[in-house]
Amino acid sequence: MKKDRIDNKEKHDIYDEEYKQRLKLMRVKILTLFGNKCSNPYNIDHSGFEKDIDYISCLQIDHKNGNGNKQRKEFNGANNFRWLNYILTHLLEFQLLCANCNWLKRKKNGEYIHK
Ligand SMILES: [Zn+2]
Repeated sequence: MKKDRIDNKEKHDIYDEEYKQRLKLMRVKILTLFGNKCSNPYNIDHSGFEKDIDYISCLQIDHKNGNGNKQRKEFNGANNFRWLNYILTHLLEFQLLCANCNWLKRKKNGEYIHK
């Protein structure tokens, strides 16, 4: 840990918290633009789990062409403003998927997460 970070731990903690909140709000904004709903590419019955209060937290922003992982790497991970801004300005390249559909898509397209 850098010395500055130790000396200003409290200040940094507040900053980190604010940063996380801002990221969260931006994610909410993106999810809202996608209608807070899985795009359901395989026409699966979502009516059961769409009612669950935790449904929204299962939604994932997916790169339609499946090169999201590579891109995320270029953007240094998914949880930063540059990446979220990229999504906001390239909405047509993305879709919202629930975790189920995202796994199905990966299986069907042979997309796997390699770190
Ligand atoms: Zn789905």
